[in-house]
Amino acid sequence: MANYELQRISDVPQCLHMPYIQSGYRPTPCSVKYCIRSMFLWTNETLNFWTHFVPFLLMARKTWIVLDNNQWEPINYPLFIYLFGACFVLLLSSMAHLFNACSTWCYHCWFSSDFGAVLMYGVTFQSAIEHYVCPVRCFGIVQDQTREVYLQMSMYYCTVQIISACLGYLPNFSKLFRCFMYFFGMVIICTPCFVRYYLYGTQNETSQCWKIGQELANMFYLHCVLICVGLIFYASKFPERVFQGTFDIVGSSHQFFHIFVAFAMFVDAAIFETALQQTKNLIEDGVISEDYFEISWKTTFGHTITSVCITYFIVAVFNFVINYDKKYKLE
Ligand SMILES: [Zn+2]
Repeated sequence: MANYELQRISDVPQCLHMPYIQSGYRPTPCSVKYCIRSMFLWTNETLNFWTHFVPFLLMARKTWIVLDNNQWEPINYPLFIYLFGACFVLLLSSMAHLFNACSTWCYHCWFSSDFGAVLMYGVTFQSAIEHYVCPVRCFGIVQDQTREVYLQMSMYYCTVQIISACLGYLPNFSKLFRCFMYFFGMVIICTPCFVRYYLYGTQNETSQCWKIGQELANMFYLHCVLICVGLIFYASKFPERVFQGTFDIVGSSHQFFHIFVAFAMFVDAAIFETALQQTKNLIEDGVISEDYFEISWKTTFGHTITSVCITYFIVAVFNFVINYDKKYKLE
């Protein structure tokens, strides 16, 4: 068994190389026990783990409180499913960073599963946005049929994204493509909100839509800024690209990416909690009936569970295939 001294980039398998990170690598292969112990060692994955594990604990606590304070009824489903999605992606990301050093195959399994969780998060985010904040039928031209197609679109887009993501973990495929695919997915989901705020404003009520309020619009813009700043760190690899060797353990771009994304998730949770409260007030005041929101098990849990099945089926096939390829076989 390898010794557990931290290694330089040249000592670990190529697929585990992090761009511009020169040192602080855990030896690969290594044991599960060592990976768990490495939570408290200063490696180049320690802060990548904690910057998503602490937000996971906070999000799990928030979810617990929300479940405790709200009935299990359709009007609450989009908020519930969003919180489950956020907990899932934060937990999977932190586990991927903790256990990826076990073997090269583990690395592929964990990070393809991690990206699958990111896609699930996108589906749950879309469900909450569509039901509480910016329904596509606000724009008048959208019939029920079109709405159904729009809601299913992110499910199918998951398939394209997860295939490109799995390929992105192999050598010779650009990781930037994965970043672009994620950004494009977010654009599809957020477009109804941009259209609603820019064309209709926040104070107007139309025959299809209720008043949204400036507070929610501001929170939505904050979400967009946080996600964009996070993605800029992810794609630019700054500061380690410029100061090579200086930020291997603390201060690398991936840590900033995690922090901005985690903040964005808490902003999103606040958006959906506020929007749900507004929705309940509108129903209580008799402005809109609950039926108008058309929240069902199918458009919330149903879509998410279908996406989970499609995504993780592709992830499983991908990892099964690469396990039979000599280049990626367990070492
Ligand atoms: Zn990460």
